[in-house]
This record gives sequence, structure tokens and C-alpha cells, in this order.
Amino acid sequence: MFLTITELPMNDFVISYILRPTIIMAFVILLAESGVRWLPKQHDYVLISSSTLIVITIVAIHSSLEYLLFFLFFPIMISIFYFQYKKLLYSFLNTGIALFALYTYDSDLYDNVSIISLLTLISVLLIYSCIAFGILARGREILIHLRTSYESNQELLVRTILMDKLAKTDALTDTYNHMAYHEFKDNLVEQAENGRMALHLAVLDIDNFKSVNDTYGHRAGDAVLRKVAELTRSKTGSNDIVARYGGEEFALLFTEKSYQEVYDLVEDIRKTIASTTHEALQGLNVTVSIGLNQYIPGMGKEAFFQGADAALYEAKHSGKNRTALAKSIN
Ligand code: GH3
Ligand code: MG
Ligand code: MG
Repeated sequence: MFLTITELPMNDFVISYILRPTIIMAFVILLAESGVRWLPKQHDYVLISSSTLIVITIVAIHSSLEYLLFFLFFPIMISIFYFQYKKLLYSFLNTGIALFALYTYDSDLYDNVSIISLLTLISVLLIYSCIAFGILARGREILIHLRTSYESNQELLVRTILMDKLAKTDALTDTYNHMAYHEFKDNLVEQAENGRMALHLAVLDIDNFKSVNDTYGHRAGDAVLRKVAELTRSKTGSNDIVARYGGEEFALLFTEKSYQEVYDLVEDIRKTIASTTHEALQGLNVTVSIGLNQYIPGMGKEAFFQGADAALYEAKHSGKNRTALAKSIN
């Protein structure tokens, strides 16, 4: 389009206005590309500097069109993307130096641009920079607001998780409480219903615990409860659930284990408890009785528990300190 209105001969125009600037800009882009690779941390500064160089090239090539000087705001506009005052200041300096260099070394510009135009240009440049500063300030405000609300959301989430854990934990033994046990059991029974997941329940009750309390006091009884819970938990894995069902009774849910594995494990727990002495009982031990049941699809959660509980009753009545199996296993 320019060719149709310019008075320059075709050859001169193509060389001065198309070929030369294209080569210079290609060189600047190459420089920027290498700069970004060599100085990845200074990535943004490299891009701002190269945009300044491109703008200088365009303005210098078309130095007869002094209004193109407004193009010098380009790097400042780019710096807004980064939302950092440092980069805005850097762009502002770039633009200032570019303007100074163009005005000093480009005789065409020096001749064409009056001092009034130059001052106007500098004023507009300052106004633009202030607007850019305003955009940055507002953007940062929004960012800070977003971050605070994100963090308070995060805090709320953490607090909810902690509260949830607290609501599910038995304070004395640090195992799951009765409510959590029911929640887990209901979920697990639902999953075991299709027969693809093995589920076992062991009900563990401390033997003659009333006399422990009567002889050594309630405090000693509490210490024993804590120790029994700790021993039990140390033997179970992440797929198992240990809950204090009530008083001196614990419910243990085992998933992903065969009957034999569960049986061996509860026997190990029972023997470990029986062979552990308690300072609070002046070096004596306590024993536990265990009732074990296996979930069979169609059984239902009530029968699942009752089977284990009946087995526990049998263990108690056949001498205590033993593991008895529910009828569904026998
Ligand atoms: P068995 O061998 O038949 O289980 O007899 P047991 O004495 O253990 O059973 P019983 O149900 O008669 O007594 C349970 C006792 O457990 C009664 C109660 O004082 C005690 N107990 C329940 N909860 C706690 C507790 O939180 N702390 C203490 N120290 N004792 C508790
Ligand atoms: Mg008991
Ligand atoms: Mg009991």
C-alpha cells in the first residue's frame, strides 16, 4: 500500500523499508531467543529489551513519521503482563533510553520533532506509565485478595479435616470411636457385599477388667486400656481399622486379608497383650478374649457383628485369653 503513495523508487523502498528492518528485527528476535535460552531467569527482561529494540527499529526506519514515536510505549504495555513494579520500571527506563537515543542519534527525528512535541511525548509517556502503574497496583490488590481468601479456605479445610479426625477419635486410646467404627463398618460391608473384598471383624474384650479397676484404681485401668490399644494398633496395618467399641472392648476390621492371615494376626495380638506387663499393675499383665467373624455376602451388618460377639461370649465362657470363631467360619 505504501508503495502506491511513496515517491521513493521501488528498489530503494524495498531495501530501506522492507529488507533492512526485516533483517534487523529477525536479528533481534534471534537475540531474544538465545537470551531466553541462556538466561532463563531473566526471561522477562530479555523480552522487554527486545521489544524495545524492535520498537527503536520501526521508529528509526520511519523517522519521517514522528507520531510513530508513540510506539515507544509498547514495552511499557508489555511489562503490565508481568504484574511486577520492577519490570514496569525497567520498561520505563528502556523507553526513556530509546527515546533519548533516537532523538540524539537520528538526525531526521531531531530535525522533524520540535522540542514542544518531544515534551508532549514525554508527558504522555509519563501519564501512560502512571496508568500502567495503576493497573499493576489494582491487579496486585486483587491477587492479594485472592491469595488471602485461598489461604483462609485452605485453613478452613485443614480445620475441618482436624475436627473430623477429632470427632472420629477416642480421646483415651487414640483409636477410632464407636461412631467412626459404625461408619467404617457400614461402608466396608457395602463393598464386601459383592464378594470381591474380604472383610473380617474381631471383637476384643479385656478379661476381668473390673477387678483391675477395683484392685489398682481407675487410673491404672486407663493406662492399661491405652497400652492394649497401642499394642493392637502396632500390629495392624493401614488396611485395618482399630476402634474402641466401648468400655474395655475394641472392634477390629480387617480388609484385604485372608481368613488365615486375620486369624494369625489376632492370635499374635492376643499373645502379645498377654505377655506384656504393666507398670500400673505393678508388673502384672492382662489378657484379652477375642471373637472373630468373616463377612459372607448376604449376611448383613447386624449378623456380622452378632456372630463376632457370640464368638467372644464363647471365648469368655471357655476360659478367656483365647480367640473363638463365629459359627459361619466353623
Ligand atoms: P470379662 O472378663 O467378662 O470381660 O469381665 P470384665 O470385668 O472385663 O467385664 P465387665 O463388663 O464386668 O467390666 C468391665 C469394666 O470395664 C467395668 C468398668 O469399670 C471398666 N471400664 C469401662 N470403661 C472404662 C474406662 O474407660 N476406664 C477404666 N479404667 N475402666 C473402664
Ligand atoms: Mg472385659
Ligand atoms: Mg466388656
